[in-house]
Amino acid sequence: MVRLLTHNMLQCHVKNCTNGFPLRFQDPVIEQHEQEINKEFLVNMLPRIDWNALRTTVDQLGLPELPAAVPENPAEDEAFLAALHRALMEVNIQSGSMVCPECEHVYPIRDGIPNMLLSEDEV
Ligand SMILES: [Zn+2]
Repeated sequence: MVRLLTHNMLQCHVKNCTNGFPLRFQDPVIEQHEQEINKEFLVNMLPRIDWNALRTTVDQLGLPELPAAVPENPAEDEAFLAALHRALMEVNIQSGSMVCPECEHVYPIRDGIPNMLLSEDEV
């Protein structure tokens, strides 16, 4: 399943495409699966998350808005961690596709698995 945590680390890798991030979901089928929250994991992941990209994606998917900025002490902000957990870990994109914002390359998602392969003339 494509979680937003995974999505936040994906970018277009078509040759000469330099600004292919974040990929835009197209016709997404969204499932939400409850998961046990792991606060330490979330806090450790935060420095690797592109916050603006995550907010943009959450907005595109019509999910509850995330705060404009990461709070100063995220580890002590229960409400923030709960919202982050829902967005990053519980939202799964089951099917649809991801489209590069620059070159429009389409990466299909089937049965929860993104196909990041390119055809020969694109690599
Ligand atoms: Zn691209």
